[in-house]
Amino acid sequence: MRIVLIGPPGAGKGTQSALMSEKFQIPHLSTGDILRAATAEQSEVGREAAKFMERGELVPDEMIQEIVFNQLSSPACASGYILDGFPRTVPQAEAFDRWLAEQECALSLVLKFSVTEDVLLERLAGRGRKDDDREIVRKRMQHYLNLTKPLVEYYQDHGLVHVVKGGQGSAEDVFASIQEIVDNLPNRQPAKKN
Ligand code: AMP
Repeated sequence: MRIVLIGPPGAGKGTQSALMSEKFQIPHLSTGDILRAATAEQSEVGREAAKFMERGELVPDEMIQEIVFNQLSSPACASGYILDGFPRTVPQAEAFDRWLAEQECALSLVLKFSVTEDVLLERLAGRGRKDDDREIVRKRMQHYLNLTKPLVEYYQDHGLVHVVKGGQGSAEDVFASIQEIVDNLPNRQPAKKN
C-alpha cells in the first residue's frame, strides 16, 4: 500500500502513522525528518537543504524529489510506504505520478486529516486569552488550508482522497476509521515489487 498523508500539525498524523506503520508493516517516511537527519549528518545534500530550511522556505523540487525517490527505491519500501510531507506542491505531485508510472505502480490512497478548531484549541496548552487563542488557531488553519488546497484538489481529481477526522475519539477509534477506508478500497491489489 502506498499512502500519502496530508494534514495540519495537531491533527494526529504522527500517532496514526505509527499505528499504520505497525499494522500494515510498511515504513513511515517524513520528509522533514529525512531532511533534518541529512542536515545533522552534514552530507552535501543536507548542507544544501539546510540553507532553505533555515529561511523557512521549501527546498527546491528537484532536490526533495531526488531524496524521496531514492528512499522509495530501497528494498524497505518494496511493499509500500506512508509518505508524510511529500508531495507538498502540485508540481511535486505531478513528478511523483510520473515516477510511480515509471515504476509501474500507483498510489493507493491519500488520507486527508481534518481537525476542527475546537479540537486544536483543546490541544493548545495554556489558560486565558481564549479569544486570542481562537484567532491564532483560525489564522493557522486558514493558512494551512490555502497552502494545501491545490494539492488536495489535484488528488481529489484523481479520486484518491479519503478524509480522516483526526480529533474524534481515541487514537484507536481514528485508526479504526482508517482501517475501514483501507478495507473498502476498490481494486486492492498486492503491492508490486519496485
Ligand atoms: P516539516 O517537518 O514537514 O515541516 O518540514 C521541515 C522543512 O523541510 C520544511 O520547512 C521545508 O523546508 C523542508 N521540506 C519538507 N518536505 C518538503 C517538500 N516536500 N518540499 C520542499 N521542502 C520540504
